[in-house]
Formats: sequence, C-alpha cells, structure tokens
Amino acid sequence: MAGQKAASDDASTVRRGGVQTPKGYLFEISGGRLCLDLANTVDNRPTPEARELLRSFGDIVDWGVQTGVVPGSTAKVLRWAAKRHPRAAAQALDRARRAREAIFRVFSAVAGRKAPPASAIKELNAALARALASRRVDLRGGRFAWGWPEHHPPDLDRVLWPAVLSAAELLISGELDRVRECEGERCAWLFLDRSKNRSRRWCDMTVCGNRTKARRHYARAKGRVAIGTS
Ligand SMILES: [Zn+2]
Repeated sequence: MAGQKAASDDASTVRRGGVQTPKGYLFEISGGRLCLDLANTVDNRPTPEARELLRSFGDIVDWGVQTGVVPGSTAKVLRWAAKRHPRAAAQALDRARRAREAIFRVFSAVAGRKAPPASAIKELNAALARALASRRVDLRGGRFAWGWPEHHPPDLDRVLWPAVLSAAELLISGELDRVRECEGERCAWLFLDRSKNRSRRWCDMTVCGNRTKARRHYARAKGRVAIGTS
C-alpha cells in the first residue's frame, strides 16, 4: 500500500514496502500489469479511510510518467494543456477514475473466482472503444509498430488509453487465473501472481504480509494469556 511510511535506501529512491520507487513519486507499481497498477490507485480501499491517489489530473500524468506510459516531454505538454483547459482536464480525470473502478470491479471479481458485474464490463468496453479509436501504426526506424497519436497537445486521455488496452489484453490472455487480490485486511490491491507455485498472497510482503503476520501473532499471544489467566 502506497501510504506506508517509506525508508530511504539511497538519495534518489525510496523504499515503499518492497518496491524501489523514485523519490518524490506517490505510486507503488507492484501489480505486474498496467491495468492492475491503475486499479491500485486507491489506498486502504476496503476501509472507511479509503484514500484516492488520483486527486487531480496532474496525478494521472505523474502515474503515466512513473509507469512509463508517457515520456516526460509529453507529460509536460499534458500539464500545460490541463492548465489551459481545466474543465476538460476535470472530465478526463473523471473518465480515468470511472475506467479504473470498472477495471477494479472486473479483476477483483476474477481474483475472487466470481463473474464480473455486467455493468463493469460495459463501462470497460466503453473506455476500450475510445482507446481503440485512437490506436494507430507508426513507422519507426523502417519498421511499423503500434502507437498512439502524439499531438501537441496530446489528447487528455493519452495516459488512460494504454491502461484500458492492457485490461482487455489481460482478460483474453492465458494469465487471467494468476490475478490475485491482496489478503491484507486494509488492502484490495490487485497483482499478477508470477510465483512458480502460485503462492503470492500480498501486494507486498514487507507491507501487508508483515502487518497481517504481526496481527495474527498478537492475537495468538493474547489468546494464550487469556487462557493462562482464566
Ligand atoms: Zn496489500
């Protein structure tokens, strides 16, 4: 969970849980797929203290830079465009959060071996239609590759599109049965379990894993005392 207090390892990075994160960044990128990292932009989701990490359009741009979705130059232009068109930026923020919630609901259900809600699939498909409408081929170094339009300024949904596409790709991939939801009581982060024996239980062992273990140990110790003193 990104809210965990970070201890410095060196001057340029901080350690959030077990993940090395560039200093000054808010997001912990531990999902293993872009769509899951987008779903994980809510902290403490199952609790009344749920915390929105995409608080402004600038946060989406920061997330895009940290995940490598957009280069710094595109991010700069996106921030400039958002300042000039605050209403459009607010609408883009709303679309990003809605797509994120659809992605969370779909993959949380998948992780729980349940059928995803039809309304979430519908919302995801609506976002996918917008993303696919912007997909294009680029000629780079004599070879064609998939790309996105890089207008100046770029579309305000530029960061969201690759995340939505990644959700569709993961859904039709053979890795869908590796999607898990963190077992931490205060956490609902999603991740792709790449462990050989498919035994990963926490978004991050050093954050949610240790906390859960400590709580169980405390509960056991308390139980022993109660029995011994009764
Ligand atoms: Zn967790």
